[in-house]
Amino acid sequence: MKPVFTVLLACLLGASAAKAETNAAELDASVTAVTPKVVAWRRDIHAHPELGNREFRTAALVAEHLESLGMEVRTGIAHTGVVGVLRGGDGPVVALRADMDALPVTEQVDLPFASTVTTEYNGEEVGVMHACGHDNHVAILMGVAEILAGLGDELPGTVLFLFQPAEEGAPEGEEGGADLMLREGAFADPVPDAVFGLHVFPMPVGVIASRPEGLMASSDRFTITVNGTQTHGAMPWMGVDPVVTASQVVLGLQTIPARQLDATLTPSIVSVGRIEGGVRNNIIPETVELEGTIRTFDADTRADIHRRIENTATHIAESAGATADVAVDLGYPVTRNDPDLYRRMAPTLQRVAGPGFVEARPVTGAEDFSYLAEAVPGLFFFLGVAPEDPALVAPNHSPRFYADERALPLGVKALTELTLDYLAGAP
Ligand SMILES: [Zn+2]
Ligand SMILES: [Zn+2]
Repeated sequence: MKPVFTVLLACLLGASAAKAETNAAELDASVTAVTPKVVAWRRDIHAHPELGNREFRTAALVAEHLESLGMEVRTGIAHTGVVGVLRGGDGPVVALRADMDALPVTEQVDLPFASTVTTEYNGEEVGVMHACGHDNHVAILMGVAEILAGLGDELPGTVLFLFQPAEEGAPEGEEGGADLMLREGAFADPVPDAVFGLHVFPMPVGVIASRPEGLMASSDRFTITVNGTQTHGAMPWMGVDPVVTASQVVLGLQTIPARQLDATLTPSIVSVGRIEGGVRNNIIPETVELEGTIRTFDADTRADIHRRIENTATHIAESAGATADVAVDLGYPVTRNDPDLYRRMAPTLQRVAGPGFVEARPVTGAEDFSYLAEAVPGLFFFLGVAPEDPALVAPNHSPRFYADERALPLGVKALTELTLDYLAGAP
């Protein structure tokens, strides 16, 4: 029995390995076939950037493409958001997300398709540029949509395509972004089992970087008002000096990450960016206001730092006979990669990028993909798009940020294969 069984098993394994190879070759051919379109979309979107909640042209381009692929398409979600549903077999549901907005930055990159667009932003005339590279995200996801739609009945589950407005924040007085898309039902029907997304980053082309748990920081703003008692600068004992007290608070806040938290657990940052009080040299003012930002990589540390800021500021103020009012405005949560999903999908990224797949260091910037990854298990990764000439490498948001389009096929391949492996129940 044993030899027969072994032979049978070998045949079966041989057959499935051959099928996997055919599938891989077919997939590579689809990526190659769609690449010229992805490049053309990216150049077109790059030349026509639109600010958050104003992505009308981009959204129309996306919706038209998804409709041409035969998808169920919903538009106008969270202002200009587009959701496409591609229904396949009875398998799970995967959501894929691309953000569509550009920034109020005047482009300085020498490209034939460089942006010359200007617009009004919060009452000012500004240049508009895809300085964070979201043009690449949109074009890549349009390419992924085309490949997956081309699979027809072979698609083993359902894919939800999210094209999201206003990742960089909505204009003053407006809401927007991933959070608003969720509140407007982007994940309501069908409910995804997992969400994947990527961000271009100035690492070499061929590199994909990610990590389990906190990949990008939470970003919260705090405001502290130190209330003293106004007096003559020559007679400080006649009042309570909020300038000296606020200075102690600034230093006290630095002891939170440096002295109060376990430095071996996770990095965190508390920065004061604005301090304001007083009108002239010889009057000690009544109040001083501080404003700053908090960055953390896990939810517990985030809540802990909020408590410690309140505690540190109010007690330092109390020791001086002053009071402190502390307000924390919640910004984007931690962009957290679900550890189980990460372990499950890392082999796919490894296969797709080979030695180019590396573990990312945490990034202290924030990303509103975090809301999607709070709603369902999420996996977010960085795609290297740095130009070959090191002199041309610039960070995201720079007027010189330049994404090398040679990176686009790897982005398409990575999202496509993550989706197919997940739907097929990988590993
Ligand atoms: Zn950005
Ligand atoms: Zn971005």
